[in-house]
Amino acid sequence: MERLIEGYKRFVAEVFPAKRSQFHLLSEGQAPEWLFITCSDSRIVPDLVLGTGPGDLFIARNAGNVVPIASDDVDGVTATIEYAVQVLRVRHAILCGHSDCGAMKAALDRNNLVSLPKAQRWLCHVEAASSYRQPPNPADGDSAELGSLIRGNVVAQWLNLRAQPSVAQAQREGRLTVHAWYYDILSGRIEEYDEQKQRFAPLIG
Ligand SMILES: [Zn+2]
Repeated sequence: MERLIEGYKRFVAEVFPAKRSQFHLLSEGQAPEWLFITCSDSRIVPDLVLGTGPGDLFIARNAGNVVPIASDDVDGVTATIEYAVQVLRVRHAILCGHSDCGAMKAALDRNNLVSLPKAQRWLCHVEAASSYRQPPNPADGDSAELGSLIRGNVVAQWLNLRAQPSVAQAQREGRLTVHAWYYDILSGRIEEYDEQKQRFAPLIG
């Protein structure tokens, strides 16, 4: 824990004072523009990659960046989405998967999940990934097969996200855009899914 305590000391001594007025404003409410749904993986640091900070991203994270299919069941992800879209009225929702995703690897080889009953049930949500499997990308090297499946999962979860009642309604009203991203840990590259072309392409040229 020492490292965290040292980090917090630095926050109190340096970071917080430098941002005092920003935190003062934020103490009275939030108005994030983006809902960001990604994996729990420790290597995905949205604020670092996107240049965002306090008050910017409303974030939902879970193993495999899952959005359960719209149903009468309730869960933390869909409740978070509903709040972001209906109450905070975010303008964009971004579903972001990533390379070397442990959840997707486990889903590929379910033997790894024998002693993880909760994860096993949760990862049923990623089974649709194979239906949307993407063409192999040479940039993925040895991980091309896994990369194809991970991108397929991004598409599957993105479709689930768009089908959430609050999201579908906000899209109809023209106040929400829903994006599907793939983040490559090794290169830092982000790809966006192009619905028209049905393939991923770099987010920036
Ligand atoms: Zn992951």
